[in-house]
Amino acid sequence: MSESYPAKSIIGLSEVTLTLPSLAGEVNILRGISLDVAPGEAVGLVGPSGSGKSTLLMVLAGLESPTGGKVEVAGNDLTRLDEDGLARYRRDHVGIVFQSFHLVPTMTSLENVAVPLELAGRKDAFARAEEELKHVGLGHRLDHYPGQLSGGEQQRVALARAVAGDPEILMADEPTGNLDAKTGAQIIELMFDLHRRRGTTLVLITHDNELAEMCDRVVRLKDGQVEAVHEGRQKAAAQ
Ligand code: ADP
Ligand code: MG
Repeated sequence: MSESYPAKSIIGLSEVTLTLPSLAGEVNILRGISLDVAPGEAVGLVGPSGSGKSTLLMVLAGLESPTGGKVEVAGNDLTRLDEDGLARYRRDHVGIVFQSFHLVPTMTSLENVAVPLELAGRKDAFARAEEELKHVGLGHRLDHYPGQLSGGEQQRVALARAVAGDPEILMADEPTGNLDAKTGAQIIELMFDLHRRRGTTLVLITHDNELAEMCDRVVRLKDGQVEAVHEGRQKAAAQ
């Protein structure tokens, strides 16, 4: 497989393991995951519930520390960064979208998108946030609170927030899991549009096989290991 990998990867995982203690003994959640992702690639991460997809994404985002192995993302060796370093890494390189939106309920749409930009030192935070919200079709919902928005609208705010800092890597964990099919499709279209226009690397967890096949590559996890990797069917068809 390695000959098809790019010379320079934006994500490089080598024998990543994550073992947690439990009352029943140690649990091996990730069991030696190696994977390289090229800049601008879209990777679909699939596999049964409990196979380690979300945990792997947390490791990639620097929100969970692996027990062993090497995690290099956007030139950072994540295992060597302290909490501040990991926070900076996330701020500078990563946008994350979760299934359950994770918006701050006491902040408006505009604030949810602008405040992280402001904390990152962007002078144009509010103008930038407004632009991003308009782009996802929420120009008329800037001053609404999450509780006043539909699920699809909340996820669009979350997506605007994730991409407003123009991250090199967009990570999404079942971003359409709480949405109806039509609303979910809109979110996916926005994500792929960004991926194409800005060359953003995409790591997308989904249990929707059709959706996974839209990616350049599909990585299937099973029991904390990479079970199989194949080229996305839609990409293969386009060649
Ligand atoms: P997926 O996203 O593929 O459904 P997860 O990454 O959420 O899988 O979980 C993988 C496995 O790790 C599951 O068996 C889950 O129960 C276990 N797990 C996840 N987080 C923890 C934790 N903090 N402590 C113990 N076990 C965990
Ligand atoms: Mg999960």
